[in-house]
Amino acid sequence: MLFMDYIDLHTHTTASDGSLSPGELVSEAARAGLKAVAITDHDTIAGLDEAVEAGQGLELEVVPGVEISIEVGLKGGAHLVGLWVKPGHPGLLDGLERLQEARRQRNPRILAKLNELGLPLSMDEVLAQTGGGQVGRPHFAKALVQKGLADSMGEVFSRWLAAGAKAYVAKERMTPEEGISLVRAAGGVPVLAHPGLLDLDRNGLESLLRKLKSLGLEGLEAYYSEHDEATRRSLISLAARLGLAVSGGSDFHGGSKPQIQLGTGKGDLRVPLTLLTALRQRRERIRGEKDHA
Ligand code: AMP
Ligand code: FE
Ligand code: FE
Ligand code: ZN
Repeated sequence: MLFMDYIDLHTHTTASDGSLSPGELVSEAARAGLKAVAITDHDTIAGLDEAVEAGQGLELEVVPGVEISIEVGLKGGAHLVGLWVKPGHPGLLDGLERLQEARRQRNPRILAKLNELGLPLSMDEVLAQTGGGQVGRPHFAKALVQKGLADSMGEVFSRWLAAGAKAYVAKERMTPEEGISLVRAAGGVPVLAHPGLLDLDRNGLESLLRKLKSLGLEGLEAYYSEHDEATRRSLISLAARLGLAVSGGSDFHGGSKPQIQLGTGKGDLRVPLTLLTALRQRRERIRGEKDHA
């Protein structure tokens, strides 16, 4: 084989805080020569039908997915990626609807805090930054930058929106039990997203993974834009030791995070297609268990 084949199993669309529509993102992935792309929007599966439809007839697999915020007792929480969840699965939709309702309650509180800090911003200006999907902190950040009230989204986060900053409002999250079991019930493979971003040392991460595995976790995201080579290698060996599959993706958000490219992350990310085999085997086992339950 002259060329290796690559995939991207972590991306965001306008259904959450990305800037490309699901259809645009799938076309972009095909243009980039990727063999598979997973759509993993924050706490929503609203983009999946459009993405799957856009993948028809293209030479790449569209993996319907989701990224769920879970509470693991760490600042900022953790993220669970579900791969191959069934679009429209009623139990998953219900669980995510609760998180979406909590976001709708949270957004006016973030706005009120920003206004109290003397920043003139309206909810309409925030909504104008979305693509009609759900609203999150990045949309507040973009609106503030656009109004000239900050130089960059990074500045907005560090001054006001990051966990612990003055306009931060905590977000409702699922328990790990609920997130993992909902992904499995929807036929999907639960994977811990970007473990390298968690504020944990190696032992802390290992004990978290053991606990999550006992709840049904199947994999971890070792290949990730913000994981350096050493982190990636150490996560791959940890996965092997714990009997977890390896996943990987860029966390592409389009123009909302311009430093991250689809597939290649900051330029050096390459997620091999060969990872899909083990992940698919786990999907089949999960689906087989459900059918015989
Ligand atoms: P939310 O879902 O509303 O809590 O917002 C979380 C999202 O904000 C993350 O998924 C990132 O896309 C984005 N984000 C978090 N921290 C930063 C940061 N320091 N700079 C830019 N974007 C960030
Ligand atoms: Fe995001
Ligand atoms: Fe994430
Ligand atoms: Zn993400």
